[in-house]
Amino acid sequence: MLGAPGAGKGTQASRLASDFGVPHVSTGDMLRDGIRRGLAVALEARATIDRGELVDDATMIAIVQERLARDDARRGVVLDGFPRTVSQARALDALAETDDMGALVVVELNVPAGVLIERLTSRRVCADCGRGQEPPAVATGLCQQCGGRLLQRQDDREDVIRERLAVYERSTRPLVNYYRGRPTFGAVNGDQPLATVSRELQRMVRSLSGNAALVGAGV
Ligand code: AMP
Repeated sequence: MLGAPGAGKGTQASRLASDFGVPHVSTGDMLRDGIRRGLAVALEARATIDRGELVDDATMIAIVQERLARDDARRGVVLDGFPRTVSQARALDALAETDDMGALVVVELNVPAGVLIERLTSRRVCADCGRGQEPPAVATGLCQQCGGRLLQRQDDREDVIRERLAVYERSTRPLVNYYRGRPTFGAVNGDQPLATVSRELQRMVRSLSGNAALVGAGV
C-alpha cells in the first residue's frame, strides 16, 4: 500500500489484512516494536526515525525479506510502509520473483496535503501496544484495545511532519511512476469516510488480483 504519512495506510492495511486473512506487515510498526523491545537494529534506526528521515535501504530490505520468509506470509501479506524508495521497490520485485511470491498488487491511497497535516498532528498511539487511535477515541486518552495510555508519536510533531512529507515527495512519490504502468496498480481516494475507503480498497485489491492472475497466466 502506497501513500503519504497520514493517508491512512496503517488503519486501512490492518482492515484489509483481516478481510483477506493475511498478516499486516508494517515496517514502521516493526521498527517501533523493535525499539520497545530493545533490538539493536531498531535502536540504531531510532534517531533517524525521530528526525522523520528514512532508514537505509539495506536495513529495511533485510527486515522485510526476513519477515516475508516466515510461514504466515506464504499466502500473502498487506505491506504497509514498504517500499519507500525505488531501490526498495526493485528489491521487492526481485524478492517476489525469486521466492515465487506471485504478482504484487499496488494500491495508492490519495489524500490532499492539508488533510494529511491535520490528521498527523491530531493522531495518537498507545504507549503499550503501539496501535494507532482515531478520534473520538483520542479524546479519552486511553487505548480502545488494551486500555494503555495514548501518546503522540515523536515523529508526529509539526516540524518532523513537514520533514516526513518532504521525504515522501522526494523519495517515495517516484514509486507511483515506477508502478503506474502495471495492470496491478490502482489508486483510491483516501479522503472519504473510513468505511468507504475500506470498501473501495477491498474492491480494488480484488479486481487487481484478478489482473495479477491473468498476468501470471501469461494472458
Ligand atoms: P511509518 O510508521 O510507516 O510512518 O514509519 C515510521 C518511520 O519508520 C519512517 O518515518 C521511517 O523513518 C521509518 N521507516 C518505516 N518504513 C521504512 C522504509 N520502508 N524505509 C525507510 N524507512 C522506513
